[in-house]
Amino acid sequence: MIRVNDNYLNLQDSYLFSTIAKKVNEFTKNNPDKKIIKLGIGDVTKPIVPAVIEAMHKAVDEMGQKETFKGYGPEQGYEFLRNKIIEIDFKARGINILPEEIFVSDGAKSDSGNIGDILHNSNKVAITDPVYPVYLDTNVMAGRSGKFNEKTGMYENIVYMPVTAENNFIPELPKEKVDMIYLCLPNNPTGTTLTKEELKKWVDYAKENKSIILFDAAYEKFIMDKNVPHSIYEVEGAKEVAIEFRSFSKTAGFTGVRCAYAVVPKELYGYDKDGNKIELNKLWNRRHSTKTNGVSYIVQRAAEAVYSEEGQKQITENIEYYMNNARIIRQGLEEVGYTVFGGENSPYVWLKVPEGLTSWEFFDKLLSEVNVVGTPGAGFGPSGEGYFRLTAFGTKENILEAIDRIKKWTIKK
Ligand code: PLP
Repeated sequence: MIRVNDNYLNLQDSYLFSTIAKKVNEFTKNNPDKKIIKLGIGDVTKPIVPAVIEAMHKAVDEMGQKETFKGYGPEQGYEFLRNKIIEIDFKARGINILPEEIFVSDGAKSDSGNIGDILHNSNKVAITDPVYPVYLDTNVMAGRSGKFNEKTGMYENIVYMPVTAENNFIPELPKEKVDMIYLCLPNNPTGTTLTKEELKKWVDYAKENKSIILFDAAYEKFIMDKNVPHSIYEVEGAKEVAIEFRSFSKTAGFTGVRCAYAVVPKELYGYDKDGNKIELNKLWNRRHSTKTNGVSYIVQRAAEAVYSEEGQKQITENIEYYMNNARIIRQGLEEVGYTVFGGENSPYVWLKVPEGLTSWEFFDKLLSEVNVVGTPGAGFGPSGEGYFRLTAFGTKENILEAIDRIKKWTIKK
């Protein structure tokens, strides 16, 4: 008899983006003449920059020549890419990372989802609320949660740390002892960040409690404020307690190309059942080299080109384009009285929905009355209720039009 992993039966259906798609399709079917502007899903719209395309073409040609053809590469990633990552993403910020600490992968979604493989199922997990859903769902799959409570909208045995306007989007340290802490900064969905001082509190907590911080920095390149840390390793001692996830998806438009990396420091230890220290880098290396043959040579050459002078210049222009969109959204909404958060160091703007409406009700009205699509905050967790996410990844023209429509809009009660 084939027994299934019962933990999967404990998962809640992921309604968010499928429900949005269903509602949008239905509206389009009934209103074919209306131009819908989609600022919902966090996917980029600008094409890959020329420096990267050129490198990819070159790598494709290499694959067609006997002398330069590449078969299986190192599972952890080619040295040429790991060295560039170390130099530009870390050394330039005064952080020392070794090549063996970098693991190139196909995505930060996979990495942040797979990391649980090397951590015990009895670990207590803490997530922010609202949250990027992958952290929660993969822990439910692993059996680290209890049952879902329909009343609270939360799983038992998971520590939810609210991040709302009330606490200025600064999660409070858990009162109870937790083992695995997920932090995503700049945050998806709230678009907010933490200062180095705030991050230090988490590093201190993790040291004190022998916990691990799983730090998702997928939006790091969108940080504009000089005082906001780009990496958790900017905090002294963080290499002893944190794994960091990075991605080329939003940074360089690789959502369809697929490339990311995880940093698993050598100083980072977990514990076996007898309390012996176990190097997590070794475990992750074992897991990684057993379960994947790595990322294609062509894609790694493409990622390497992101770090070239031209590549950096070109991706920075794209990021500035998106951040200008974020500014347009923020300012436009503020002008007509919305309370907005994020959008300053992140491509996400998180707004408070008008009094008396739920985030789904606001979604429906925005779609039907001004034909703009966003994402209801409630879809990211119970504390997301009352909020709404707009992304800056659209075209400037569409963003200007969407904001113009919202500014002229009187919500029908
Ligand atoms: N982490 C966060 C916080 C994200 O928002 C996303 C994508 O939306 C990812 C990771 C996924 O990154 P990747 O495309 O590298 O899998």
